[in-house]
Amino acid sequence: MFVFLLVIGATAITLQLTVHRVWERTLHEQIERNLKQKAVMFAYRVEADRQHTLADITAQEGQAAGARATVIDPTGKVLADSESDASTMENHGHRKEFISALSGQLGVDERKSQTLGVPFLYVAAPVSGGAVRLAYPLPEMEITDRPLAVALFWGSLSAFVFAVLVAAVASHYVGRRLQRIVNFAERVAAGDLTARIASTATDEIGKVAAALDKTTRRVEESYARVQTSQRELETLLNSMQDAVVAVDVDGRIQWANRSMDRLLLRAPRLNAPLIDSVRDPDFLAAIQKAARDQAVTSAHSNTIVTGRTFDVTAAPMPGGGAVAVLRDLTETERMEKSRRDFIANVSHELRTPLTSIQGYTETLLDSPLADNHVREFLEIIRKNSARMSRLTEDLLTLARVESGEQRFDIQRVSTEELLQDARESFREVARSYGVELEIENSVPAARVNADREAIHQIFSNLIENGLKYAASGKKIILGARSAGSGVEFYVRDFGPGISSEHLPRLFERFYRVDKARSRESGGTGLGLAIAKHIVLAHEGTIRAESELHHGSSFLFTLTACAPDSV
Ligand code: ADP
Repeated sequence: MFVFLLVIGATAITLQLTVHRVWERTLHEQIERNLKQKAVMFAYRVEADRQHTLADITAQEGQAAGARATVIDPTGKVLADSESDASTMENHGHRKEFISALSGQLGVDERKSQTLGVPFLYVAAPVSGGAVRLAYPLPEMEITDRPLAVALFWGSLSAFVFAVLVAAVASHYVGRRLQRIVNFAERVAAGDLTARIASTATDEIGKVAAALDKTTRRVEESYARVQTSQRELETLLNSMQDAVVAVDVDGRIQWANRSMDRLLLRAPRLNAPLIDSVRDPDFLAAIQKAARDQAVTSAHSNTIVTGRTFDVTAAPMPGGGAVAVLRDLTETERMEKSRRDFIANVSHELRTPLTSIQGYTETLLDSPLADNHVREFLEIIRKNSARMSRLTEDLLTLARVESGEQRFDIQRVSTEELLQDARESFREVARSYGVELEIENSVPAARVNADREAIHQIFSNLIENGLKYAASGKKIILGARSAGSGVEFYVRDFGPGISSEHLPRLFERFYRVDKARSRESGGTGLGLAIAKHIVLAHEGTIRAESELHHGSSFLFTLTACAPDSV
């Protein structure tokens, strides 16, 4: 409204000034033209009228023109004047308009009269023997001008009042429409995405309103989609068996599924610190580590619910914080244990009958009664029962190591001792295969934390394999070298090697590269699996390196003792 008033006021003033100026100029031009015509007529009359005296003519012309009339001779001497006595008047020859008129042209000038002190318009015309002049007082023009100025003022004022009324109505109308947009924006800001302006106008404000409506509709649709997928996700997470909990950077609970609620005695409260609901240090550490290092972290926890074991996987969330999934391993571990127990029991139960079969077979073989044919069958029975016995022994060993039942007597043992032990035990057997056992120890002074018997078992399995599958190499190297903070032991042969696709599965139970050959050489398919579980129980790692036709290496690591304890 204020802007409207300002514009209307400025327009009225500009109009006043412009109209006034144009009017003045037009009036002035008209007066000048008029005066010129009258001066020419005056000159003509001075020339032609022989009946009246010059003084009469001057007086008459001055009256007719409403101006002062003057006649001069060529020297500038005033011959007649309509308002003064000519004889008392000074010489007019140097006046600008008379200079032009005496030179034969119409002379015009505008200046203040010396006698009256008001601006006059002077027009002089040449006559034979001098010049005539009419002088018109310009304040006359202002008098003619005033009614126009008054009319203009009233016209402007009424236009102003009318414009103000129109502006008031218009600004009220626009203001009301803008207020609707403001109300709409406030509703949207308060979260009401169903708000619409619903304007039917097609002007700029209408277009803005339509664009805002369209944007809000889009946002509402996107929001609905996000809500739907969030609900779907919630339903999915709530129907999961695994417990899921999400925390922010400060470790406050952001979300927990139903399984998590059921798991804890006190249901987790949103925004409360996770530590108020769960105290398990391994679980809390895994979540903290995932959030801090931005990496997936795993842990096992036993104290969230007494008697139950959980596998915890914590992953970082994009906006900070972490989400943890707890999988109940209790049932799986129970089943795993019963499977191991079953295998151990069966193996155990088979031991006695197998020993008996082996005993009787050997007794019969020793008896002189058996003929060659019978001996051949008895030999087959002995060989197979020996294989079955090895199998049951290996199964029992594996079950014991895997279940953690086997207690290891961890001591500080020197690497050299372990290697020497292994070589001594197999020197003769190796020789029978035509194979030399060599030691390659780059850390002879180092000691490792290990159960001597168990490590011997690993070396036995690896050397036996070397002899069985790689005797053609004629040499097997037993070695030790430092690897990070531990010691890496290895058994390297120069036999046929193993192709790379078998390497990842070599340490699985009963995995054999060549089944027939393994069986023929008395293998059970459990040697490497047992080695793996012993190494894992020592918190070490085991791997195989091999290339077809270039031999194989089996390497395992053990933790080294601190130097001061060496
Ligand atoms: P097995 O009782 O059959 O020897 P292992 O678990 O000890 O069972 O070995 C698994 C398989 O790995 C073997 O069947 C054999 O095919 C392969 N293997 C193990 N050691 C060697 C080696 N030194 N050279 C070639 N192949 C080997």
